[in-house]
Amino acid sequence: MNKKFNIDLTVQNKLIISALIISTILIVFIAFWAVNKIKIELDESYRSFGQLLTKTLAVQNYEIAHSDTASAFVKAHVNSILSSTNDISYITFKNKVGDVIYSTIEAYSKRATNADTNISSPMIDQNGKVVGVVEVGLSADLAKNVTRTTKKSMVFVFSFIWLVFTFVILGNALLIRRELTLLHHGVKEIEQGRFGTVLDYNQASGEIKELFDAFNDMSKKLHNYEEQNIDQLTLERNKLEAVLFSIANGVVVCDNYDNIILVNTAATKILNTSESEILNTSIQKYCDAAGDLCFKDKIAIFKNTPLDVIEKKPLEFNVDVDNRVIKSVISPMYSKMHDYLGYIIVLIDITKEAEVDRLKNDFISNVSHELRTPVTILSSYADTLYNFGNEFSFDEQKEFIGTINQEVIRLNKMVNDILDFSKLQSDTVMEKEKQDITDTIEKIVQSHKVLADEKNIQITVIKEDNLPKVPYNTQAIERVVSNLITNAIKYSSENSTVTIKAQIASDPKFLEVTVEDKGIGIAPEHLDKIFDRFYRVENQVHTIKGTGLGLNLVKVAIEKHHQGKVFVKSKQNEGSTFGFWLPV
Ligand code: ADP
Repeated sequence: MNKKFNIDLTVQNKLIISALIISTILIVFIAFWAVNKIKIELDESYRSFGQLLTKTLAVQNYEIAHSDTASAFVKAHVNSILSSTNDISYITFKNKVGDVIYSTIEAYSKRATNADTNISSPMIDQNGKVVGVVEVGLSADLAKNVTRTTKKSMVFVFSFIWLVFTFVILGNALLIRRELTLLHHGVKEIEQGRFGTVLDYNQASGEIKELFDAFNDMSKKLHNYEEQNIDQLTLERNKLEAVLFSIANGVVVCDNYDNIILVNTAATKILNTSESEILNTSIQKYCDAAGDLCFKDKIAIFKNTPLDVIEKKPLEFNVDVDNRVIKSVISPMYSKMHDYLGYIIVLIDITKEAEVDRLKNDFISNVSHELRTPVTILSSYADTLYNFGNEFSFDEQKEFIGTINQEVIRLNKMVNDILDFSKLQSDTVMEKEKQDITDTIEKIVQSHKVLADEKNIQITVIKEDNLPKVPYNTQAIERVVSNLITNAIKYSSENSTVTIKAQIASDPKFLEVTVEDKGIGIAPEHLDKIFDRFYRVENQVHTIKGTGLGLNLVKVAIEKHHQGKVFVKSKQNEGSTFGFWLPV
């Protein structure tokens, strides 16, 4: 059924209708009683009137009973009575044996049939003897008419009142229903959180207007309150989010049941997962790429440690996640009231630091080894010369001193490397001078001739014509070129070639220097780390000892102190090309 036509009556309307029905019944009852009473009264008066009439006629006309016939005067008198009123149906005179002396029934036959009441009075002569009877029939037309008209008027009046009331109630119900529907709609809007909904004040009437007013007022207040609250909450949330997501370290927050309830971007990156994947899971079940439950045991240790102990010194451990070293710190989490809520794991990717640590250790062992060899050679050669010098020929002595000299040079290079390394790390601006790079290259090639000759390596220098002079620190670039040439010789087999080129780079704002060898080359997995501090390739091919500082010195000198850049191209067993760009 269409809801529009489904009119619900309010309690108030129901009361009005009930009162209307009761009063209608009461009024109808009283009206019918009154009508009935009127009818009875009328009947009574008719009867009295009939009696009066019959008695009068009997007194006036008793003589007709003696003659047994009515005179013309009597007839005229009776007829005049009948024609003066419709309420008398007939008048009949009878003698003492009951025979009709005179009757109007024939003359007024139609009227005679309407008679409702028959009244008779005896005719008595002067001697007091009953000589006949006068009978009168009364139709009571007037009483009937009065009753009928009263009834009709009542039906009309009550029907009209009923109709008017029904319309008023119906109209009222419709009006109230429309207003209530509007109010209901407004309340629903508020219920769904749409604060600030305004009801049209003009659509309401009477007291409902005040209700609409109160509603609008409440809605506005709620809206203002919500806005203030939302602003506050958003600010708090944004602050928290900003802090959490700006932390470079990973943060994982777990509740008391080990469920991850919060995780920041850094943590998802470190754990190689996504927020949706890890949220609401248990941290104990986290597996790295190799399928290891890397947190399980540590969380167990954390849980077995008393809280007051862990509070003073949070549990720290390293886990290996997909070949990376992650330092993890677990600390308990409390509410303001100091209720235990769970724990927070801070994740720090220390792969690089761990690698540097490892390389530093290697460096120390390498340097001590590298230093021991020349020092041992120097001490034994010097000792031999000092004690038994006279026993050797001049050439032999010269050879001894040559070896000592070479070892001193090696030692010197190593010490210089270490010294340069610490010098280059500093931020002091280097003094630069515009000069021809080929001069420096030629000078360094010259000083490495002995080294190259030892392995019969041919060094060629190719330079482009009209190269511009570039600003650089001579000592630093000498070290750079020297390191590259030393490596090229070191990692090339005997009878090989080393080519040094100086030219304008593909970007003409730079000058390019490359050192190319046909040596053992470098495997691709080492190439991006080769310029790192202490990084060394050590395998069956790369057996030569070193400090792992040489290429890092090159990088720092070029990139940090000359705003240039370094690069390498290499293929295993085919050779390598190391180079750098210097800004023109
Ligand atoms: P090192 O003192 O060990 O030579 P470097 O920083 O100079 O230290 O070099 C780092 C690593 O790079 C070396 O261990 C070596 O394996 C590799 N390397 C450097 N230059 C060359 C080259 N020209 N050919 C092959 N490998 C090289």
